[in-house]
Amino acid sequence: MDKIFIESLGIELPRLGFGCMRFPVKDEKIDFDKAKSLISYAMEKGLNYFDTAYNYHKEESEKFLGKVLSEYPRESYYLTSKLPIWKIEKEEDAERLFNEQLERCQAEYFDFYFLHAMNSERKKIMDQFHLYDFIARKKEEGKIRYIGFSFHDNEKVLEEMVSQHKWDVVQLQINYWDWHEIDAKSLYDVLAKYKIPCFVMEPVRGGFLSSFAPQVEKHMKDYSSNSIASWALRWVASLPNVAVVLSGMSNMEQLKDNIYTMTNFKSISKEEQNVIDRVIEELKKINPIPCTGCRYCMDCSFGVDIPEVFKVYNNYKKTENKELTYRDYFIYMNQDKRADKCQKCGICISKCPQHIDIPEELEKIHEELVSI
Ligand code: SF4
Ligand code: SF4
Repeated sequence: MDKIFIESLGIELPRLGFGCMRFPVKDEKIDFDKAKSLISYAMEKGLNYFDTAYNYHKEESEKFLGKVLSEYPRESYYLTSKLPIWKIEKEEDAERLFNEQLERCQAEYFDFYFLHAMNSERKKIMDQFHLYDFIARKKEEGKIRYIGFSFHDNEKVLEEMVSQHKWDVVQLQINYWDWHEIDAKSLYDVLAKYKIPCFVMEPVRGGFLSSFAPQVEKHMKDYSSNSIASWALRWVASLPNVAVVLSGMSNMEQLKDNIYTMTNFKSISKEEQNVIDRVIEELKKINPIPCTGCRYCMDCSFGVDIPEVFKVYNNYKKTENKELTYRDYFIYMNQDKRADKCQKCGICISKCPQHIDIPEELEKIHEELVSI
């Protein structure tokens, strides 16, 4: 696994980080043995950066990592977690949550600790409860080595965040789709301007950029035998201010493929960029729902499996395979989880970092899927 030296921090990190929100699951819980074997393989190959958070896997991810990583010397891996800002109702909550997270992770300190999923609303909470001062203090106490935040809002809010305080790193959602179709480039430019290393989440956009309809994949497959996902990882890792690229890997095949991609790393060439541009043009025609599968909108009190519905729908748009879509939606998905169970309560909307009008999209999707 290739490493990258981050000059401002004076440390070397693996180019690929392990995102801990998409471990293999069994009966809706982390499949301990399978997930542990992924961690063991990653450690063996030098992929020793792990990015978790309080809420991942219904609050099981930190505990799982704590158990598995406690078998390794603490200095042999990098551990990142994030403060769930939305749970802070008074200043003391930060200390309580932070200590709980250290305990769950069986750790004395975090290598990186972020304010989680910052946006303009959460910035108000950060200011009101002095959360920057809190994490800066923890850094001074040696409980955190590097501080930062992950971010889902616009350029203006990002500029406010980075100009008002000193941050070691910032984590952004960047991939070739968001770069061209949303505002990832302007966010990236802000970090480059302030010379803050950029860690990247969702390089494959929750799997959206890992498979396409055969006629779209053909552009990439004719060029090389590498996986479709590898194009997305290499594209983002080729940006000069990008340090670690995270991938939430769910099985050994993905893990091996990603490690292969990030070993003897080669930046995207001009010719390859032309191939990606052609793929983007094709993808634009299908107008996908911009869901990354992060599950922040869950649980829906009425049982709708929002990310699963969006996944099935986006796969349908990508593949146009009616038979498979019918199977995935009407046979495999429990009817209590389908889009028509949405009661339009609206609670999920503000939780979605991609600002999707979830009830509206669900209604349209169900109408379209019943007619296939
Ligand atoms: S708007 Fe619909 S999908 Fe969202 S939480 Fe309410 S019922 Fe569930
Ligand atoms: S709808 Fe939004 S919050 Fe829910 S999984 Fe998709 S991107 Fe995440």
